[in-house]
Amino acid sequence: MRHRIELTWAAVAREHAHMDWFLVRPLCLVWLLCAAALASGGEPLFTFGAVSDIQYGDKETKGKRQYRQALELLPRCVEKFNAERPAFVVQCGDLYDGYEKENGEDVDREKTRVEASRVLLVLRGIGAPLYHVLGNHCLRAGKEFVTRELGRECFYYEFTSAAAKGWRFLVLDGNDAGYEIMSPEQIAWLGERLAEAAKAGERVIVFCHYALLKEAARNHRLKNGDSVLPVLEGAGCVAAWIAGHDHAGGYFERAGIHHVTLKGLVESRAVPDFALFAVFSDRIIEDGFGAEPDRVLALGAIGR
Ligand SMILES: [Zn+2]
Repeated sequence: MRHRIELTWAAVAREHAHMDWFLVRPLCLVWLLCAAALASGGEPLFTFGAVSDIQYGDKETKGKRQYRQALELLPRCVEKFNAERPAFVVQCGDLYDGYEKENGEDVDREKTRVEASRVLLVLRGIGAPLYHVLGNHCLRAGKEFVTRELGRECFYYEFTSAAAKGWRFLVLDGNDAGYEIMSPEQIAWLGERLAEAAKAGERVIVFCHYALLKEAARNHRLKNGDSVLPVLEGAGCVAAWIAGHDHAGGYFERAGIHHVTLKGLVESRAVPDFALFAVFSDRIIEDGFGAEPDRVLALGAIGR
């Protein structure tokens, strides 16, 4: 029998309305980490960082999107990653906002590239290995630019980490067959990699710019998620699907897979929205910063 505990700072704040908010949050985190450490028998196996939809642009704020502030907040995110020394960091897409095409012409691809370079310069201050997920806005700098600057021809790939034995990480490209559409070739590749991981007794975490489930991302998702879900759920080794794109964020568990949609950093208030994940043998603890919630994600047995 598996247990799932959901703890959000908002819920705690309601219960402890008389206490100072800045006192409650660190105390709760200490409690959460102690409880998890006791339950899991000590230190996490490894930790990793994740940030999504930085979406920087040298342009006026639009709705909740504070394009210029994103670049100002990003160093705080980098500092935290460097202080915590995670095994790796994943940026889940849409590094910059860029400029859309108008009447078939680029509005200003060069300006997009200048802004992209500013964000990348800050991200290169991260000491841990950094993995990129390609977002729809990333494509506005052009394929040649992202290939050169993000260092890949193909944006669906896998990686491992020496710190994360028994784990495999898959990065998917949700635009390789068009906007929010994943190609059948890539879905077949995903199935092969998951079968390989299951055979080796490994657990898998998948990163994609797009969420699959409406319950985890109410506004925007992959268009052909229904073709991906059976592959994911049939594998029996997937622990989590971590996405972005839908700035509101969200969470849902289905078939033992935790679908986490990260809040967009571009919509952060005074503190950047991002997360650190501590992985234990029986759970993953998400430590959210800014408006990103904290969660405890229980892990079931492999091959369920
Ligand atoms: Zn996006």
